[in-house]
Amino acid sequence: DAVVHWFKRDLRVHDNTALSLASKMAKEKGVGLIGLWILSPQDWEAHLVSPPKCDFELRSVGILQKELAKLGIPLHMEVLPERKNISKLVVKLCQEWGVKNVFCNLEYEPDELRREERLVRTCLENAIAFNPYHDDCIVPPGTLQTGTGKQYAVYSPFFRSWVAHLHAHPDLLQERPPPSPNPPGFQTGRFAHFFNEPVPEVPGSKQIDPEFKARLEQLYPAGEAAAVSRLEHFLTEKIGAYKDTRNFPAKNSTAVVSVHHAAGTLAARTSVRMARDVNSTKKLDGGNEGIRSWISEVAWRDFYRHVLVHWPYIAMHKPFKYEYTNIRWDYSPEHFTAWTEGRTGYPIVDAAMRCVRSTAYMHNRLRMIAASFIAKHLLLDWRLGEQYFMTHLIDGDFASNNGGWGFCTSTGVDPQPYFRVFNPWLQSAKFDADGEFIRKWVKELRDVEGEGVHNPYEKGGEAARIAERNGYPRPIVEHKFARERCLRRYKEGIGRE
Ligand code: FAD
Repeated sequence: DAVVHWFKRDLRVHDNTALSLASKMAKEKGVGLIGLWILSPQDWEAHLVSPPKCDFELRSVGILQKELAKLGIPLHMEVLPERKNISKLVVKLCQEWGVKNVFCNLEYEPDELRREERLVRTCLENAIAFNPYHDDCIVPPGTLQTGTGKQYAVYSPFFRSWVAHLHAHPDLLQERPPPSPNPPGFQTGRFAHFFNEPVPEVPGSKQIDPEFKARLEQLYPAGEAAAVSRLEHFLTEKIGAYKDTRNFPAKNSTAVVSVHHAAGTLAARTSVRMARDVNSTKKLDGGNEGIRSWISEVAWRDFYRHVLVHWPYIAMHKPFKYEYTNIRWDYSPEHFTAWTEGRTGYPIVDAAMRCVRSTAYMHNRLRMIAASFIAKHLLLDWRLGEQYFMTHLIDGDFASNNGGWGFCTSTGVDPQPYFRVFNPWLQSAKFDADGEFIRKWVKELRDVEGEGVHNPYEKGGEAARIAERNGYPRPIVEHKFARERCLRRYKEGIGRE
């Protein structure tokens, strides 16, 4: 007899709700704990998981296997071609192993909830107890309500209520007890061979070339120890100034832990607790403004998950705002390719897009500029951009990505108003004033001095000559024209005069 913990997007040993409870039960029963991880390439295809993210997950699984082994806990890794068979596989393995209890942390996308629902039934039919827990959000979805008993659709009151709830329920932020070591002898018994199982290969369509892989390994060391050390560095060196520095891509001033939150090598709960603990107030508010501001960014993650649980149609290619369904989008392949390849002639947009191709990451301000540009300047269907981000980001996460796209394109929950059309040049002059980020990524403009780097052809003179000589494209669309066209198209779509 044993207890199983099924790892999904919670690839860590510490501060893991379901794992901790699975271990508690195993200990009470005097039996062992087995970890299970299932890779379904079909799942990765269907959910557009990017190759860098697949690679990161597998690297993290390898580390998880070793960390669990230190506690005598085996991790069995299984590759399953058809994702619809996941629930059957879990039950089959439980039967083979004589397991009566399966634990896991919940995921909130409709496909995942349907899968878990199937698992509840299949387990019941086979007299196995299925024990799912809330863990991914700091405050579980469905907990917070507006004064009229509704789900929040506006962030600021959500955040106030989120903070008040956590102050009233400090247990939600408490670290979950780590799993206990397995009983002696478990390592040598019938599950011994799991300790030496090789981590599966990244499936063909998701593979990346070795040079890119090496770069990603260096930029984003996998596993929970790497996550905590990155977070600790941020908390000691950077968080204090975060409020003032967070919008400037060249400053490298954010935590860059989204990859860990997405893979679950770091719990959002751990992040917020550790940030709270470095605040002089030991609270989520008051004290240092940088800390409060950072915690409120992590809370956006909860917000978008709560929204997804309450309005799951957003996972079905529908805009959150129903009245934005009828906007007439364009589908120009030339414009889309220019955007993805960073050849729009808007240096800040191009720098952002070239950065994501090379590092699988993009700074939040640049995500906003790039998203606004494709939807509002090019009028391309924002879902093309949403998908492109998912297939390229190492931190791709449905709820946060969809939420971010909805925000920038005015179609989502608590969005920018539709008539706010970012001027990429002004954004660039404000958030990359010295052009440091642009020069790093747009090599054609590396020698342009001064402010001409933001818009070389408009500046003229030497800036334009360098841009021309180096083959930097002219703006793909004229800003004033694009802005007016965008307002017309949005107004038409949503039926406003
Ligand atoms: P920090 O500034 O250090 O923030 C700390 C943490 O808070 C992040 O790691 C992240 O978990 C969370 N967070 C911060 N901002 C947001 C936000 N706006 N929404 C939700 N969570 C947030 N984030 C993803 O994790 N995955 C995505 O696929 C994703 N797609 C996005 C698409 C668009 C168009 C936009 C505008 C934003 C998107 N974001 C996404 C949110 C945000 O850009 C990233 O979380 C952030 O840039 C990650 O860098 P960091 O860890 O240094 O963040």
